[in-house]
Amino acid sequence: MPNEATLLLDLDGVSVIRVERLEDGTRRVHLATAEEAARACPECGAFAWKVKGTARTRPRDLPYGEHGLVLLWHKRRWWCREPTCPRTSFTESVAQIPAGARITTRLRQAAGRRVRDAGSTVIQAARDLHLSWPTVTRAFRASAREVVDVPLPEVHCDRERVARVPGETYMVDVDGLRPSSEYTFTVRAEDGDGSLSPFSREVTVTTLPDRPDEKPPTRPEDLRARADGSRAATLTWREATDDTGVTSYDVLQGGTAIHSVTDGSTTTYEIHLDGEFAATLVWGARHAVKVRAKLPDGHWGAFTPPRTATTP
Ligand SMILES: [Zn+2]
Repeated sequence: MPNEATLLLDLDGVSVIRVERLEDGTRRVHLATAEEAARACPECGAFAWKVKGTARTRPRDLPYGEHGLVLLWHKRRWWCREPTCPRTSFTESVAQIPAGARITTRLRQAAGRRVRDAGSTVIQAARDLHLSWPTVTRAFRASAREVVDVPLPEVHCDRERVARVPGETYMVDVDGLRPSSEYTFTVRAEDGDGSLSPFSREVTVTTLPDRPDEKPPTRPEDLRARADGSRAATLTWREATDDTGVTSYDVLQGGTAIHSVTDGSTTTYEIHLDGEFAATLVWGARHAVKVRAKLPDGHWGAFTPPRTATTP
């Protein structure tokens, strides 16, 4: 059963811990996360169980009363310990306050509907809701899309449309392609009147072969470790090579994988002595580290010989 303040605020996914009045009359509402799903890793979906730390955000919400409300959400950072997940940590988010959002979902929707349904101008809605006009413009575009079947930007492959994405999306996954084949892609935009932009420049991509790659990548050579002060170290190594391309590197410390560098072209890695590594990477100690490379099909190459870094 939620407490009465939580019921009064009625913002899904969070509960009210306490409310205080500031000198200028503003009420500050302290929030805690009230949704189990908030600790599911956004990358792999696994539930995290190890807290990395805490964070506070001040999402703006709908106006309440004459003096307004200031929300302060006390949320947690979690370590994702799924061995295969490239994400090492994440901060909680709920549907009403998505990751990185400065305003609540319901405030954004209210701003959009003011322009879409209530005939307000963008500038007026921005003034009324204390938002910037670009924020209101984006909100309006999103809410217009809910009710009008406006044509949206398209992605073309070999001059056939393969995807149509919302106007604020600049990334798309294209699947259903054949192995070892070359594809050419281009993008064009469409506005609300159905007018089409010229096509973008074309890009070409060749898909990887289907058969498992039997040949592992070469060993990353020349691994070096350097201590950066007493709480961090930097590792560098020479690029591993492979006929189908290296997708990531696995960094091990004392035999335990501590990180995957998911970009195969990255050959430097910093170990920071905080959170997870605090117990193992200690001041004045020597640390053995080694690196191996990973192929697109998941095969791993050989490890580099271990190197040690001493934190001063
Ligand atoms: Zn994860």
